[in-house]
Amino acid sequence: MAEAGSFADRVKQQADIVRVIGEYVRLKKSGQNFTGLCPFHGEKTPSFAVHPVKQIFHCFGCGKGGDVFSFVMEMEKCPFPDAVKVVAEKCGIPVPRPKERTPEERKENQQRAALIEIHRESQAFFVRQLESTAEGRAARAYLEDRGLNAETIARFGIGYAPSGGDVLLRQLKPKYAEKLLVESGVISRDQSGARLFDRFRRRITFPIANESGKIVAFGCRALGDDLPKYLNSPETPIYSKSNVLYHMDRAKEPIRRQDFAILVEGYMDAIAVARAGIGNVVASCGTSLAEPQIKLLGRFTKRVIVNYDPDVAGQAATERSLTLLLEHDFEVRVLALPAIGDKKADPDLFIREKGAEAYIKLLKEAPPYVDYLIARARQMDLSTGEGKQRALNFLMPYVQRIPNRLLRSEWATRIAQQLRIDEPVLRAALNKSATERRGEVKVSPQLVGKPAKQIERRLIRMLAEAEGFKRELAQRLQHGRLYEGLETEKVFAALIVAGLSDEPVPATEIGAQLDERERRVFFEILFEDAQEPTWEEAESCLDALRRRQIEQELAKVQKTIEANPSGAGLRELLERKQELMKQLTAAGQPG
Ligand SMILES: [Zn+2]
Repeated sequence: MAEAGSFADRVKQQADIVRVIGEYVRLKKSGQNFTGLCPFHGEKTPSFAVHPVKQIFHCFGCGKGGDVFSFVMEMEKCPFPDAVKVVAEKCGIPVPRPKERTPEERKENQQRAALIEIHRESQAFFVRQLESTAEGRAARAYLEDRGLNAETIARFGIGYAPSGGDVLLRQLKPKYAEKLLVESGVISRDQSGARLFDRFRRRITFPIANESGKIVAFGCRALGDDLPKYLNSPETPIYSKSNVLYHMDRAKEPIRRQDFAILVEGYMDAIAVARAGIGNVVASCGTSLAEPQIKLLGRFTKRVIVNYDPDVAGQAATERSLTLLLEHDFEVRVLALPAIGDKKADPDLFIREKGAEAYIKLLKEAPPYVDYLIARARQMDLSTGEGKQRALNFLMPYVQRIPNRLLRSEWATRIAQQLRIDEPVLRAALNKSATERRGEVKVSPQLVGKPAKQIERRLIRMLAEAEGFKRELAQRLQHGRLYEGLETEKVFAALIVAGLSDEPVPATEIGAQLDERERRVFFEILFEDAQEPTWEEAESCLDALRRRQIEQELAKVQKTIEANPSGAGLRELLERKQELMKQLTAAGQPG
């Protein structure tokens, strides 16, 4: 929330939500609002609206809504402080430099900045080597041989680390302390500790960027038969293997737009897939996915197609990654590429041999992970009881991870059929292990509530904007407790508190006090076309609520009387009934 007087609050006051959102969505003026195609769900007719006066947005399709900051947070998948910065920059409001809290923190920040700078310089160095040295030209020939043309080399920043052993070192040494160079990981120290040398020698270099596009590491492939074939940067203060996904900096936008990602093993695979025109691809750059990588991916999509190498290591990696992805509620499909001749095909080889079209076709047909796993289990020897048991043991952990009980049951049936296992036996095994498992994941609550009645809608609108009498209206509603028991009771409660306060309360702040369903109803009401309200109309709405209240009590009294016609207290009940009937007449007829 933007605290009053805070920087965020100032930004919000000055920012124009129409202009900021207009940079992401084409908006058209429509009445008092602006509308456009919702960037958060696919649609052909606009149901996304921006309210220039209230400075809020709302999508009538998917229900997303909020203020300028929540829009940017959702769009950029960033936390609140970053969204404030983005909005400030877009509106030309100078961002105050963050205070460095302690001298240690300041030192760390300086160190990180220097390490990034070393990577930037190393990258420029590797690119130059590939372009303009004899060794580099040999490397280029190798790359061209693998189908990487000049355009691709430039696009992915591919470079070359020469064989000399200290060529990069000599370049960096005058500018940086030895300790820092070793910390960066591009320079190594020998065992005696006396001598420094280039970590990468005679290798093709692939820069690895963090999410925001800064190069933080290198992945390097040997040019000849040097071992290891792949050598990457070590863990450093700016790089942790498990935190970074290769190509994420460029893939995040297409991933968000298409709401799914393709996960491959190595950078050559990611490059091949991206070159085929499929931008939403990332590589784990290791044999399996780590939890922080999954969390990073999960900020942009919950749907992934895993396309790891088809060899044994790749299969094992696929299965390990599946486990983690399912635990994080991803919807997972698996693409296992067919062999080409007698060669097992990774995405790079497959696209080179069969072309992008063929790859895209298989991608579209990639089966849900359970089908992939059943196919794997069927490769086991199912002719014996023991074999079936092994297949079942292989499958069971995955089936248990399906959060949805119905889906789990459906898969149990399919597995029983496909593996020819007695279904009750399988279900018993499944139920047993399911009870040992941690709590069920709840199905997401239905967001769309019953639409509020017309009178409620009008009153809410008046409470929110009738400057002339909203205070009076709030007092009346509160005094008579007229809103209690309404579908929109919570919306009323928040608006009444706001209406009685001396400070104006913006709509987004009220929205923030409501749960998602109520917020949605509230915003929808704010966006409705409506006539200027009058006090007369407000009074007639209040009358209607009063009648409703009396009628409800009357019904209750009547019910009590009927339930026990000869009971004690009947007299009081009958008197109360008379009184209520009188009140109802006084409250007038609905009109
Ligand atoms: Zn939407």
